[in-house]
Amino acid sequence: MIAVPSSVRAAAGRLRDFPAYVYDLAALSTHMRAVRSALPGVELYYAAKANPDPALLTTLAPHVDGFEVSSGGELAHVRSAVPGARLAFGGPGKTDDELAAAAGAHRVHVESPGELRRLLAMGVEADVLLRVNLDIPVAGASLAMGGGATPFGMDPAGIDECLTLLSGHPGVRLRGVHAHLASGLEAGPLVDLAGAVLGYARGLGVREVNVGGGMAVAYTEPSRRFDWEAYGKGLTGLIADGERVRIEPGRALTVYCGWYLTRVIDVKRVHGELFAVVAGGTHHLRTPVTKGHDQPFAVLDGAGGPGEPVTVVGQLCTPKDVLARRAGTSVRVGDVLAFGMAGAYAWNISHHEFLLHPKPKFFYV
Ligand SMILES: *Cc1c(COP(=O)(O)O)cnc(C)c1O
Repeated sequence: MIAVPSSVRAAAGRLRDFPAYVYDLAALSTHMRAVRSALPGVELYYAAKANPDPALLTTLAPHVDGFEVSSGGELAHVRSAVPGARLAFGGPGKTDDELAAAAGAHRVHVESPGELRRLLAMGVEADVLLRVNLDIPVAGASLAMGGGATPFGMDPAGIDECLTLLSGHPGVRLRGVHAHLASGLEAGPLVDLAGAVLGYARGLGVREVNVGGGMAVAYTEPSRRFDWEAYGKGLTGLIADGERVRIEPGRALTVYCGWYLTRVIDVKRVHGELFAVVAGGTHHLRTPVTKGHDQPFAVLDGAGGPGEPVTVVGQLCTPKDVLARRAGTSVRVGDVLAFGMAGAYAWNISHHEFLLHPKPKFFYV
């Protein structure tokens, strides 16, 4: 079972309606201070797509150097939530309108020679990083955006094509390379990837490198954290004088601060298996479906001792609406369950309109 902070328990005690989201902004600040102090000399951006909630963005702002945005919508949203923040604009498939908006960002991450041609044709000024997909192993990753044929970024031949296009266009300034090759890696393999990307950048003669995000998050071990100290030490050891290294994590920064609180409506046994049906479901917290895991939860109010394995499902009329399978926790009708690790790729990737249940309210502690 996951440990629920007292501030989240207290917020749950005040709630009238379930389900609800509670964001623990104090815990987010504490986490960010630890991350930041582990990364001396490394620029830290937050990948807004992990969770663009404005209260999270403003809580993150003093702890980061900027924000990575991946669409015109995210660009406008982060600009209004955190005016004046430095922005890096990435993402495959930027439209002309998005490219025009992106040109004003601190950095534009170019995804293809075709995209660069369109940017150059606009005649705007921009500072660009070329997104490279190096053919290097990313074994152990939960998602691979590079290390083989994917629609993300360019292989070295594509980068060479961009270098040719850029010469003769002084208004679009090449600042360096960007790489976000994999997600779900531990510190050691991520440092190795960063080393490979830095080596490649040196070969091109550029001194700025964004090595992406993707720091591992262990949903089966809620109390374990990515080893930021080891990662910071590893990165520091790689950086030569005059080089600028930036990272842009999402999940590993905000995942721990989010809680989805709901109440058990029904408990039943079907063909021998025990099920608990809760208010809401995976149309509010889609993460366990997309990742194929059991979302960690705790039963509040002191209940929830060890019990017969129970599968916790939502109100949707689909067998996919499963939040946690065969949890060994006793669950009764009326119990309040607190699902943790719901602060990244949770509410904002969920299909809220499905079945038209009332949407959760959001609370901040
Ligand atoms: C999604 C994404 C990130 C953040 O990834 P996390 O796994 O959430 O850390 C960073 N950079 C790019 C380009 C991304 O697409």
